[in-house]
Amino acid sequence: MKNIVVIGGGVAGVSVALLLGTLGKKVTLIERKPTLISGPPFCHLHAGGNLYREIDDNQCLTLLRQSIDFAKVYPFAIDFRPTVIAIPTEDSGTPTALLRRLNLLKDEYAKFVSKEPEAKVLGEVEDYFHIFERKELEELAKEETPKSPKTPKEWIIPLAKHLNLDSVKYPLIMVQEFGINLFRLASGASLALESMSNVTIHYNSVVKDIKKSSWGFKVFCEGDFEGEIEANYLINATGFRTGEIDDMLGIKSQRMVEFKSAYTAKWSKREELFPEVIFHGARGTPQGMGQFTPYPAGYVQLHGMTQDITLYSDGLVSSSKDSSQPKLASHFIDKIENTWSKEEIQERTTRAIRHLANYLPDFAKEAEVGGPPLFGAQQIPGFDPSLRVAEVSFPLKNYARCEIVKVSSISDMAIAIFRDIKDKESLENSLWSMVNFSEISEDSISRYAKEIAQSRGYPSEMGDRCVED
Ligand SMILES: Cc1cc2nc3c(=O)[nH]c(=O)nc-3n(C[C@H](O)[C@H](O)[C@H](O)COP(=O)(O)OP(=O)(O)OC[C@H]3O[C@@H](n4cnc5c(N)ncnc54)[C@H](O)[C@@H]3O)c2cc1C
Repeated sequence: MKNIVVIGGGVAGVSVALLLGTLGKKVTLIERKPTLISGPPFCHLHAGGNLYREIDDNQCLTLLRQSIDFAKVYPFAIDFRPTVIAIPTEDSGTPTALLRRLNLLKDEYAKFVSKEPEAKVLGEVEDYFHIFERKELEELAKEETPKSPKTPKEWIIPLAKHLNLDSVKYPLIMVQEFGINLFRLASGASLALESMSNVTIHYNSVVKDIKKSSWGFKVFCEGDFEGEIEANYLINATGFRTGEIDDMLGIKSQRMVEFKSAYTAKWSKREELFPEVIFHGARGTPQGMGQFTPYPAGYVQLHGMTQDITLYSDGLVSSSKDSSQPKLASHFIDKIENTWSKEEIQERTTRAIRHLANYLPDFAKEAEVGGPPLFGAQQIPGFDPSLRVAEVSFPLKNYARCEIVKVSSISDMAIAIFRDIKDKESLENSLWSMVNFSEISEDSISRYAKEIAQSRGYPSEMGDRCVED
C-alpha cells in the first residue's frame, strides 16, 4: 500500500490525514509540536468574506461555499452565533455599499440550499443577513436580554445596550458568519485521527531533510521519532514553513508570510451572550478594523488591524531568489517557539481593549487581560497580500503543497489531493460525507478541548463554545 507522509499537523495536515485515513489510505503524520492544530489561531468562519471589503466578489462567493463545506465537516467546532458589522462614523465607507454583495451572497446561499438541503448550515436563507436602523436599536435596548437568543433581534439586544450608538453609521448589519472554536476542532479531529489504525502520528518530531528516491521520497526526522520514513506520496502542510520543505526539494516558489496576533480579554461583568462584532476600518492605519469575538464566561478575543495591536511593521515578509521560505525576524520566531514577555502581553492587550473604547465604552472600562495572546504566522501564496482563498498546488509528481489562507479551504484542498493521488480520477465532492465523528462523544470532545486550552496556557472556558446548533 502507498505510504502517504503528511508533514505538519495544523488544520490543513489534520484535515487531509482525516480524509485519506477514512478512505483507507496508509498515512504517517509528522508534527513538531506535542499536540495537533496548535499553529496560528482561527475564530471566525468567513462565510461570505464580509470582513474583507477589499476582496472581489469571486473570493467572497468561494469563501461562502468553502465555509458551508467546513461547517458540514466539523459541525462540533462551530459556534453558532452571528456577526454584526458596523461602519464607524469616521470611516469613509457606507453600510449601503456592503448590501450589494450581501444580496449576491444570499442569492448564492439560496442556490446551494435548493440544490442540497444539507448546505443549510448557516440557518434560513432569509436570515443570512439583517439590517437594523438606529431607531430600532434604541427600542431594542430597552428590552430584557434573552438568555438563549435565537432570532436576529434577540441577538442584537445586548449590543444595542452597550454600543455607543453615535459611533457607527446605519444601518447596522448582522450576517450569519459564525465562530469556530479552535480548541474543539483540535480536540475532535485529534481524537478521530488517533483512533484510526491506518494513521500513524509522530508528535514532537521535525522533518529536517528530504531526498528524492526511485519510489518517491525519503523523509528524515529528528525528535521523538528519529530516522527515515519512505513516502510514495508527500504532503507539505507546514503552514508558514512551507518554503522550508520546498527548499529541501529544490523547488523555487513565491509566497508571503505574515505574523499577526489577537488578544485575550476578560469582561467579568458580561454574562449575556453577545454576537461577534466587527468595526470596519482601513487595515494598517490607527483606525484599522476592530474585531470583538466572544467566548463563554466573559472571555473575548480581540483583533485590532493596526500596527501596534494585531499587525507589526515588520510582520509581512516575502520569499527571495535564494529561498522559497520568507524569513521572519527572529523576535517573531522567538514568540512562536518560546514565549512573549509579560510586558508586551499587557501592553498590546490593553491597546486592543482601548481600540474599542469609542464603540463599546463599558467594555473598554471594565475589561482586563484575560490570558495569553492568540498568535502565529500564516502563509499567503504568490504576491497579493489581500488573497484570502487558496488551496493546494502540485509542483512535483507525488508532491502536494497545501497553501490555505483561511481554514475554510480545507475541504477543496483535501479533495484535490485525493484526486491527485488517484491519478485525477473524477470523484464526487461527497467524499467528505464518509468522514464522520459519530464515534467520538460530545463529552470527550468537550473534555479534551478544555484540556488543550489549558495546556496551552488559555482559560479552560475558552475550550467551550458559546452556542450549540
Ligand atoms: C492572528 C490570526 C488570526 C486568524 N484568524 C483566522 C480566522 O478567524 N479564520 C480563518 O479561517 N483563518 C484565520 N487565520 C488563518 C489560519 O490560522 C491559518 O490559515 C491556518 O491555521 C493555517 O493552517 P495550516 O495547517 O496550513 O498551518 P499551521 O497551522 O501553521 O500548521 C502547520 C504545522 O506544521 C508543523 N510543522 C512545520 N514545519 C514542520 C516540520 N519541518 N516538521 C514537522 N512539522 C512541521 C507546525 O508545527 C504546524 O503545526 C488567522 C491567522 C492568524 C495569524
